[in-house]
Amino acid sequence: MDGDAARAAELRKEIAEYDYWYYVKDAPRVPDAEYDRLFRELQSLELMHPELLSPDSPTQRVGGKPLETFSPVRHAVPMLSIRTETDITDQGAVAFDARVRRELGLDVEIEYACELKFDGLAISLRYEQGRLVQAATRGDGETGEDVTQNVRHAVRQIPLSLEGMPPDILEVRGEIYMRRDDFERYNAAQRSEGLPTLVNPRNGAAGSIRQLDPALAARRPLKFFAYGLGEVQGWKPQTQQELLDRLEAWGFPVNDMRCVVKGASGLVEFHNRIENMRDQLPFDIDGVVYKVNSIALQESLGFASREPRWACAHKFPAEEQVTVVRGIDIQVGRTGKLTPVAKLEPVFVGGTTVSNATLHNEGETRRKDVRIGDRVIVRRAGDVIPEVVGVVPGGGERREEDRYDLYKSLSGRCPVCGSHIVREEDGADWRCTGGLFCPAQRKQALLHFSSRRAMNIDGLGDRLVDQLVEAQIVDTPADLYDQRKLNLSALSKLERMGEKSAQNLLGAIDNSRKTTLARFIFALGIRNVGEATAKDLARHFGSLETLMRADEEKLVEVRDVGPVVARSIVDFFAEQHNVEVIQGLLDPERGGVVLEDKAETEKPLAGKTFVLTGALAMSRDIAKERLESLGAKVAGSVSKKTDYVVAGENSGSKLERARELNIAVLGEQEFLAMMEGGSA
Ligand code: NAD
Repeated sequence: MDGDAARAAELRKEIAEYDYWYYVKDAPRVPDAEYDRLFRELQSLELMHPELLSPDSPTQRVGGKPLETFSPVRHAVPMLSIRTETDITDQGAVAFDARVRRELGLDVEIEYACELKFDGLAISLRYEQGRLVQAATRGDGETGEDVTQNVRHAVRQIPLSLEGMPPDILEVRGEIYMRRDDFERYNAAQRSEGLPTLVNPRNGAAGSIRQLDPALAARRPLKFFAYGLGEVQGWKPQTQQELLDRLEAWGFPVNDMRCVVKGASGLVEFHNRIENMRDQLPFDIDGVVYKVNSIALQESLGFASREPRWACAHKFPAEEQVTVVRGIDIQVGRTGKLTPVAKLEPVFVGGTTVSNATLHNEGETRRKDVRIGDRVIVRRAGDVIPEVVGVVPGGGERREEDRYDLYKSLSGRCPVCGSHIVREEDGADWRCTGGLFCPAQRKQALLHFSSRRAMNIDGLGDRLVDQLVEAQIVDTPADLYDQRKLNLSALSKLERMGEKSAQNLLGAIDNSRKTTLARFIFALGIRNVGEATAKDLARHFGSLETLMRADEEKLVEVRDVGPVVARSIVDFFAEQHNVEVIQGLLDPERGGVVLEDKAETEKPLAGKTFVLTGALAMSRDIAKERLESLGAKVAGSVSKKTDYVVAGENSGSKLERARELNIAVLGEQEFLAMMEGGSA
């Protein structure tokens, strides 16, 4: 007994602490399943030893304290909780039906209204003469918070005035929630800016409504479903079904998966049907709710301390669970993005066993401070991949220098291909630089390489690339052109590849061999280098070798190339693996790709002769290289044949001679403008 008393006291303290974080701060410390386990343990201790029960026990009241920052609202009709049936098998429904019939003393089939249990924030909306006058949270059930401003701004679905002939006073109860896709989108945007993310859609909804800046609340898209009533004057429905139908007619969103069933078998059928479609729903639910349909029967059943006797929540497997991180691996995505993935002690969550969960990126891992050995909350909801949402506080001292460090954990090398890794310009992600070579990025690289605006290999689509890579015929773009690898006999081994199609493909590959420098640069798939930049680079440098030799300083001289693009180009060519693929492509014995640039005579400065003199900001060599790439000739002395003299500072005799011969003289700025424009 002493042991039980001590345990009950301990549980009360622990639960009160979790309640505070959940209801007041909207930042849960443990998943609901864990909380429910402690709550049930306390309930059963109190049942065994009624003398332990005290009015301040968390089992005796609803929710948490209202925040003082909002004005308090006293609910005319209390906002209660719902009894939760935690037996997630059919027995949960059978037990509820048996209880209802026993308490009513009726041995007939009862009619039930079945609804979804939305996982969001309970809200009470008060309408007077059809106009919204107040929105209040549940708070402790008796007193909630006035959140009218935020609700008006953030939940467009809540009508400000009602259609038809609503009663004079109407309080509508319902749930404000966040759709899963809105939640994912919001988090992705936060993540890309290195900002904190929302733990789950429910906290997203609760946190948005219960914070003080209505503009911020409005940035997070929220939705609403109505499911019940508070105070009403001038109307009384006969059934829950009628109640919901009328709310819908007055303009409230009411979920259309609701239905009326008979007896325990009807409840079981509803529970199973909804569980099967749970993953496909656009929002989170944590179970279904059964309500006795007849309002008269509801009234005779009445209320227990914190919940009506005529309703019950029947849960589904929890979508959040606690487990332990055994390791942190890195996954390399199709575009080279490196994603830390937590290797977990396998845990049953959201209906399946999960042993890997994404940590999204290094920034988020560090912000959440997830480390090997930690107890973490794992979430798996809908079709979204499982993720680690946070660490359960506790455990020993945490040294700052042990915080997760992706670069260190990989020694700076891609775990798939060994190429060096670089941090993304936004600072959130790391990326492998082995674009053409890295097996993880192979398919993507090949598809891009052969696409219409790149090398334009007709007929080389998604399915074929998959087959070629999986049959190990093609590893890199260079292999596409290597007849020792890709030939009729290799292709004939592929599924559904007739001789005619094989011939066509080889023909298309052959046709693409002759291409332009701009297309080739674009085809390489260098990060941040799109078609337009590829053209600028080709025009500016004139040859692949010059481009490959250019450092960041030279690269930023190109129109529209900033430091980020320049860095990506340098990183790409610094990776020996990529250089080898390029050599393979251009090697006449292997790839045989030919970069056919415009004939000399078609170049913009073809036939023009330039003389450079004086001190230019740009080095003479570069100026010469660029002029030549545009088709111009650069001479050492001024003669009648000279078309332009480019005169830098302190120009001497050559400038004088140009003036004598009436030759056009360009200052450095004019000269630069001419080269950017690409014509004389
Ligand atoms: P509840 O959330 O389980 O059920 C009552 C609520 O269900 C109502 O207030 C209403 O908002 C909602 N609801 C959704 N759909 C409904 C429908 N169709 N009809 C009627 N109501 C509907 O109970 P509760 O008292 O709000 O809180 C208990 C829950 O909160 C438990 O699931 C518990 O795990 C969780 N909790 C978790 C922590 C934590 O630290 N993780 C702490 C406290 C509470």
